[in-house]
Amino acid sequence: MSLYIDIKYLHAISHRLENFKKKSQDLYNCRCPICGDSSRNKKKSRGYFYRGKNDLYYKCHNCGAGQHFGTFLKNFDSNQYGQYVVERYAEGGHNKTSHKTVESVLTFEEPKFNKKPEPRLIDSIMDRLDTLPDDHEVIQYVTDRKIPRDAYSRLYFIRNVKDVIQLNDKYKESIVTEEPRLAIPFLDGAGKLLVVSLRGIRGESLRYINVKVDEDAPSIFGLDQVDPSREVLVVEGPLDSLFLDNSIACAGTSFGKIDQLPIPKENITIIFDNQPKNRDVGKLMNKYIEMGYKMVIWPDSVPGKDINEMIENGLTSDEIQRIINDNTFKGLAAKARYAMWRKV
Ligand SMILES: [Zn+2]
Repeated sequence: MSLYIDIKYLHAISHRLENFKKKSQDLYNCRCPICGDSSRNKKKSRGYFYRGKNDLYYKCHNCGAGQHFGTFLKNFDSNQYGQYVVERYAEGGHNKTSHKTVESVLTFEEPKFNKKPEPRLIDSIMDRLDTLPDDHEVIQYVTDRKIPRDAYSRLYFIRNVKDVIQLNDKYKESIVTEEPRLAIPFLDGAGKLLVVSLRGIRGESLRYINVKVDEDAPSIFGLDQVDPSREVLVVEGPLDSLFLDNSIACAGTSFGKIDQLPIPKENITIIFDNQPKNRDVGKLMNKYIEMGYKMVIWPDSVPGKDINEMIENGLTSDEIQRIINDNTFKGLAAKARYAMWRKV
């Protein structure tokens, strides 16, 4: 149990680590002693000790330091490190690994996060779109889709889709390809990462791969940005929501859970894709009309089955916003319009 030894030595030095805190099972946080963290903000603590397979690792989201706990300890307190090595050697003896050198013990395989990671961990495996050059493949992709530039800071590029396994290793078996993708992180109101949706950009037949970081979290995009005290537009696609003001997206089955949102019903306008022939959508629309929600019933003339398609076909965000305002109904009026829309 080398993990046990790592944790034991972490506790032995923890009182000398500023702002040291246990965040969850096998995840500890402190101010980074390597870079000193922020010199202005004494509360900033961006160093994390987290569990790999059988070892503890250290990562700082300020200076980018990433190392095995042993390496951290060696630099932090060489006396403690001396004892630590003896203990790990002694333990190794039971496992017939006593012949191993210290260095080989300390250079284990790349760590995998098997606990809920902090949101910033995403920055170590992906690049945020607003940090990439205009001629980059993914920037070309979002430019072609006319995604607004001010939304680039909410989107990421992942070079190898397999790297996302670091956010939840349950997907180890199911993600087998290695292509680059557009990554759309779903954060909660506190900025915690819940889900990452990975959109193919090279014409993959599997257009979306959704990775739940928090297994129980709803797949709702935009909770970190939305103001629930104002009118909230609820759409189906995360990318669609980027074209609208104060909008969130309920991806997949989460569209059946709009009534569970932490937003007052009177502030919600529901906007389904423009797919009158889709039975499942029809059922849900009926349900929410019955429950008294405001709903957009698209006029026949709109050019596209979703908002992004309408934009690609030449409408502006303002024009779509106007269509939404002019075609929002509730109660009996919504029922009547809905019946007409389905017949088209
Ligand atoms: Zn640091």
